[in-house]
Amino acid sequence: MAGHIPEEKVDEIRRSTDIVEVIGNYVDLKKQGRNHFGLCPFHGENTPSFSVSQDKQIFHCFGCGKGGNVYTFLMEIEGFSFIQALKQLAEQTGTDLPDQLSEEAPSEKSQESQAMLEAHQWLTKLYHHLLKNSKDGREAYQYLIDRGFTDETIQKYQIGYSPDSRDFVVTFLEKKGYHPQSMVKAGLLSTNDHGEYADRFRGRVIFPLRNHLGKTVAFAGRSLGQQEPKYLNSPETELFHKGRLLYNFDLARSAIRKEKTVILFEGFGDVISADQADIHHAVGTMGTSLSSMQANLLKKYAEQIIICYDGDRAGIEAAVKAAKLLKSVGCQTYVARVPDELDPDEFIQKYGGDRFKREIIDTSDTYISFMMNYLRRDYNLQVEGDRITYIEKVLQEIAGLDRAVEREHYLNEIATEFQLSVETLKEEVQRIRSQSGVKDKEPKNRYTNDTRQPTVQKKLLPAFHNAERKLIAYMLRDPYIADKVQEEIGGAFNIEDHQVIVTHLYAYYEDGNESDISQFVEMIEDASIKNLAIELAMAPVSEEVSDQEIHDYISRIRSEQWDRTDIRNLESELKKAEQQNEPIRAAEIAMEIIKRKKELKHH
Ligand SMILES: [Zn+2]
Repeated sequence: MAGHIPEEKVDEIRRSTDIVEVIGNYVDLKKQGRNHFGLCPFHGENTPSFSVSQDKQIFHCFGCGKGGNVYTFLMEIEGFSFIQALKQLAEQTGTDLPDQLSEEAPSEKSQESQAMLEAHQWLTKLYHHLLKNSKDGREAYQYLIDRGFTDETIQKYQIGYSPDSRDFVVTFLEKKGYHPQSMVKAGLLSTNDHGEYADRFRGRVIFPLRNHLGKTVAFAGRSLGQQEPKYLNSPETELFHKGRLLYNFDLARSAIRKEKTVILFEGFGDVISADQADIHHAVGTMGTSLSSMQANLLKKYAEQIIICYDGDRAGIEAAVKAAKLLKSVGCQTYVARVPDELDPDEFIQKYGGDRFKREIIDTSDTYISFMMNYLRRDYNLQVEGDRITYIEKVLQEIAGLDRAVEREHYLNEIATEFQLSVETLKEEVQRIRSQSGVKDKEPKNRYTNDTRQPTVQKKLLPAFHNAERKLIAYMLRDPYIADKVQEEIGGAFNIEDHQVIVTHLYAYYEDGNESDISQFVEMIEDASIKNLAIELAMAPVSEEVSDQEIHDYISRIRSEQWDRTDIRNLESELKKAEQQNEPIRAAEIAMEIIKRKKELKHH
């Protein structure tokens, strides 16, 4: 699977990585007994059945069955190839990889996107350098300082300056060996009808837009003077999709996890401003409406999401849309309101970060009170007809709340304000709820306090099947047991997937490897078999196992083998009898087969 990468490198990187730390970047893990548990990032669940073993350096989900080592995890969650996962970890652990390391037979397309990505990293450095060190950049630098950016922020966000030149970047990229046509595709250069290439960003302050791995994938350029448009962004490219990118997610990730909260802004300027005001758990959409992919990503990391959009009409409408989407994917959603039609950046500039935190973020509305305020604007509550429509709309929203106490709270509020009976309102909400098919249940706590391991109802397996599973679990832990089993029955397991696992395992130990499940699964290509091996390795088995127990498992597997062989023999006899036209004998054999099969099931 590792192709032509030296296996020692693969192992070295895996060994210098801690799977708990890597997965901890994506999943909130809590230690319970020997393992760490969290909510599975691969399937939706409310109680954690996703477990990570630090000893074994593997993960396994008891819910959906996914499992593997640190490479498998990154491949699954990031959609990486094996090499990409390897490179990512090599970078994090400071391990050198051979230079010639490349994807096996890279397609032209991936070569081109690799070049596009590299060019973005070069330009990030170049633009930043020009801002800090060139004569032309001085004006841009002063502009940033005047707008309240600190040196630290300019450094942290690698803010830069693109010189006011037709071909400065054209020449730079050509010298680096990039094909200008690819650079046009990357949105870094533009081209005219005569096929002449030119710099896309000229005389602008440049904000690199990073993907969630911290790599620049696009730029936003702000004009310094009267140049239009005020903002010029990279176009959508293979690397940059506005609906997917969440600005600053790479830097904010750990703060979001710590606070269990994320603040969602509309623009990257707000994010940077907030960061300067000591608010580090903030991300921004790229001025497009929040996509469900982004909503789901945020939900994985944060329990609470505070939407903080611009205070004008457009900002409020966008906040309503985002709030509804976040609510629908099950996020605890709040909306912060910025007054006087200001945007968050402007508010911070004007009143400072402390006031922003105190008056805007800390006083953000719950989803429902935000919606109530929002709906109110459309109706004249002095008029009876309007009032009734308004109340109906609000009841619809209240009906969508999960918790009964919360519903009751707002119903009381409405009842008092409009002098209505709470009972009537409750009935109405109940009617809406049953109509829309919402079940009455309190949401479960994300984590229960007990330390019992999550158990999943497994189908009852026949005894021989359990024997094989137990035996493999011991074999994975102990090469001596594997050796013994190999001598006794070799690969003669009854379940085909088990045969595949033990065959790999024998080869693995024969190569002189120690028991190491995380390393072992690298040998297995088939994902479902890999998952099964992991599942077996995670199964709780006692520390000490007697020879007798191992012997019992082996006998169980053997007798099942014999029974199966018997049946197979009978089946071929049956065929013979039929061919030789001996109906009575054939019927006898058929009866015997049915009887044997029945017995087999009851083992
Ligand atoms: Zn799962």
